[in-house]
Amino acid sequence: MTIRQLPDILINQIAAGEVVERPASVVKELVENALDAGARRVDIDLEEGGVRLIRIRDDGKGIAADELPLAVSRHATSKIASLDDLEGVTTLGFRGEALPSIASVSRFSLCSRRVGEERGAVLEIDGGRIGEIAPKPHPQGTTVEVRDLFFNVPARRKFLKAERTELGHIEEWLRQLALARPDVELRVSHNGKPTRRWKGEGDQIDLGLSDVRIGEALGEEFARNALRVDHSGAGLRLHGWIAQPSYNRASADQQYLYVNGRAVRDRSVAHAVKQAYSDVLFHGRQPAYVLFLELDPRRVDVNVHPAKHEVRFRDARLIHDFVYRTLNDALAETRAGSLPSAQTGEFGGGGYPVGSSELTGAASAPPSQAGMYQYRATAPLALRVQETQAGYAALYGNNGGSGAPASGYSGGGSAYAAPSAPALPHSDDETLPPLGYAIAQLHGIYVLAETAEGLIVVDMHAAHERIGYEKLKSAHDGAGLRTQPLLVPATLAVSEREAEVAEREEATLIALGFEVTRAGSQSLTLRAVPALLAHGDVEALLRDVLADLREHGESRRVGAARDELLATMACHGAVRANRRLTLPEMNALLREMEATERSGQCNHGRPTWARFTLSEIDRWFLRGR
Ligand code: ADP
Ligand code: MG
Repeated sequence: MTIRQLPDILINQIAAGEVVERPASVVKELVENALDAGARRVDIDLEEGGVRLIRIRDDGKGIAADELPLAVSRHATSKIASLDDLEGVTTLGFRGEALPSIASVSRFSLCSRRVGEERGAVLEIDGGRIGEIAPKPHPQGTTVEVRDLFFNVPARRKFLKAERTELGHIEEWLRQLALARPDVELRVSHNGKPTRRWKGEGDQIDLGLSDVRIGEALGEEFARNALRVDHSGAGLRLHGWIAQPSYNRASADQQYLYVNGRAVRDRSVAHAVKQAYSDVLFHGRQPAYVLFLELDPRRVDVNVHPAKHEVRFRDARLIHDFVYRTLNDALAETRAGSLPSAQTGEFGGGGYPVGSSELTGAASAPPSQAGMYQYRATAPLALRVQETQAGYAALYGNNGGSGAPASGYSGGGSAYAAPSAPALPHSDDETLPPLGYAIAQLHGIYVLAETAEGLIVVDMHAAHERIGYEKLKSAHDGAGLRTQPLLVPATLAVSEREAEVAEREEATLIALGFEVTRAGSQSLTLRAVPALLAHGDVEALLRDVLADLREHGESRRVGAARDELLATMACHGAVRANRRLTLPEMNALLREMEATERSGQCNHGRPTWARFTLSEIDRWFLRGR
């Protein structure tokens, strides 16, 4: 065969192979174009999962009639003009590839009226063959119609799945877009029936994602358990919602990451999130989050993936660290009885007990409201831990909970028992601690406590275990990682790449407690190891650390291995089931829970406490109906 230039249609069809995988990718590209054109409302009409028809209509600025042919030609775009523009690109599109690619594998029509023009115009393209521009009435904005996707590419058509599946992919894309752009209204119909409406929320975009939309997109249960994160530093900002550890998933299906408004997958950020959750998540479960990372567009390359699903950061290591720290700090605040202070001022700094999602949420929240509203509406109980403790100390003397006389409490108990007086003891007493005061122990396993608004049940062993674990961790953090020299230095056979990493990262390894030198092209000499871990398999640990350093530029494995050991120690030290506790002991446990980081979950990520509001309990007895 001689070398020949391919015809344009074929070039576009080849490009389509990368950009247009299925109907959902067409929807994505077209809605992104509408958003780039400044649309406030986008209508998406689908037939047969998008295979028969995708029609996207927007009220954006439109395309001039004489530019219609340009819009559908390859490498034609209005979004960048130079390499400099490309490096700082802020629009979703920039390659000028989508329309020609889609038009080459479908029966395509582009109809538009540019802002300020009197008439609209339409251009039709059939399997890549371009027709003539014709006048056609159209309101300001653009309508793109894509019929019979892949009608001329049978090989691709064969890979399409059932209508339901393709529709599911489209819906997932739209959910992703809707999360990023709550200011825009999206209306979806399928086979002539309206299926979904994402109501535009005005110019709220600066305020970020509203709780209403997050509830719509990810469900009320997520909304109720979401913690708001907003942190800036080093020219980076990370904001959004992360689920409390007690709300977790079997798969990574609720993990949304946006970089400068673009939905992307990023292994390094995902890894950082996973690490932040590692100490609080039940084994094998996945966290849920919607996170927006913002940074100077020049610090991120968006031109690395054909469908723009991935980006490349100029300083990936810094970003990994930033994400990890931000979320780790937010999760540290998941204390029992209080809502994390990772919340911004938006919620008045006030927390409200959320506890275990399964047990508290559904019955106690009015169905029309997402949990975030609830936090705001019921702020009175929202006491900061120190204040609470100070108040407690004032009530019962300086010895914290342990000195609380049982008699000082029982008065409250009788008031509670009075059936005709639902007004609660201490209800206007500002000093009532979030987890209340212990009233009894149940079956030697649970502590029952009364609060201003109902009943708290605490898993005594799980809670005590976490408290012990956090104490051990801070004690060890304070002392630093000690190193223990090996009596006989060990020689380790490694790959050349591992040896190079060890050499390059010598200082990092020393900080982690390893003293390692390169002995040859494929061997290392290990002279000292982290003291606390000296009895474990330190060689395997070192190999894992080297792999982390190579892939992510850092490793928290030593810390994780240490934590595992401390967790085991904490477990052995924690109160066992069937140990009878006195009321002062139980109160002391509650006070410690309120003051301990991450005490909302045990060391294995299970919840340590649950809450039953009085109105929930009333409902059991059909009271107030
Ligand atoms: P890109 O988005 O990368 O620029 P596309 O092939 O998706 O490439 O679109 C080509 C051009 O057509 C865009 O740069 C834009 O000027 C114009 N265009 C496409 N869709 C719309 C729309 N819905 N509204 C206004 N202009 C549009
Ligand atoms: Mg585009």
